[in-house]
Amino acid sequence: MPELPEVETVRRGLNQLTLNQNITGGDVLLNRTIAYPFSVDEFIQGIQGRAIIAWHRRGKYLLAELSPGAGYLGVHLRMTGQLLWLHRDEPLHKHTRVRLFFGDQQELRFVDQRTFGQMWWVPSKMQVESVITGLAKLAADPFAPEFTVEYLAAKLKNRRRPIKTALLDQSVVAGLGNIYADEALFKCGVLPETLCTDLQPQQIEQLRKVIIEVLETSIAAGGTTFSNFLNVKGINGNYGGVAWVYNRAGEPCRVCHNVIQRIRLAGRSSHFCPQCQS
Ligand SMILES: [Zn+2]
Repeated sequence: MPELPEVETVRRGLNQLTLNQNITGGDVLLNRTIAYPFSVDEFIQGIQGRAIIAWHRRGKYLLAELSPGAGYLGVHLRMTGQLLWLHRDEPLHKHTRVRLFFGDQQELRFVDQRTFGQMWWVPSKMQVESVITGLAKLAADPFAPEFTVEYLAAKLKNRRRPIKTALLDQSVVAGLGNIYADEALFKCGVLPETLCTDLQPQQIEQLRKVIIEVLETSIAAGGTTFSNFLNVKGINGNYGGVAWVYNRAGEPCRVCHNVIQRIRLAGRSSHFCPQCQS
């Protein structure tokens, strides 16, 4: 599943390739990918003839600001969504769900095997959060100034649930998923099962710091190697080579050489070093 670094990598690619060019039309191959408006024709009419001024990111949501007065185009990649900038002659992948056409025979193609991905057109007269309702519940982005130690401490206060589970909750931290939650917990030496209520103030301070560090490292590597993540040019990231624990069960810890373990927590795999994390 694409997490913050992958979505950020896609955003940067889109800002390099798609800006200030008119969307000449589109083709929706799977109607339910369009979460709003309910009419696919209305979706296409809303974005047609408009240009994208800038792509923004909030958590794992991408928001394209359309030419003045035309609202926003929202995209969530969910489990397997990919946005690819391609020539229109490129053969259609069988999981292609939406095509947005631009000049010079270019297109932005939304490919999504599991079909959980979503797109929205938010008309300018409507509040973005009222259409893309997930945004209203979203916590602060780890790179936003409001993501302070106090903010994170308040989010974790009185929560008797494992810290790993809390980190996956988008209303606690926006943008983290399984990979970077495991990596951040390793870097601050905290076991995934540790209850939020048992964390010491200095551990929360350290956790905030390493969340930002881990995400920055992955963005610099162009996103993850794991899963089917591709950037807009169809290239996988490089983060896997430097991962501390994620997907490394049975392999030696890069710090202490003990064997990395994997447990199931809230239905997800958690990877950790029993020596470095306590
Ligand atoms: Zn270790």
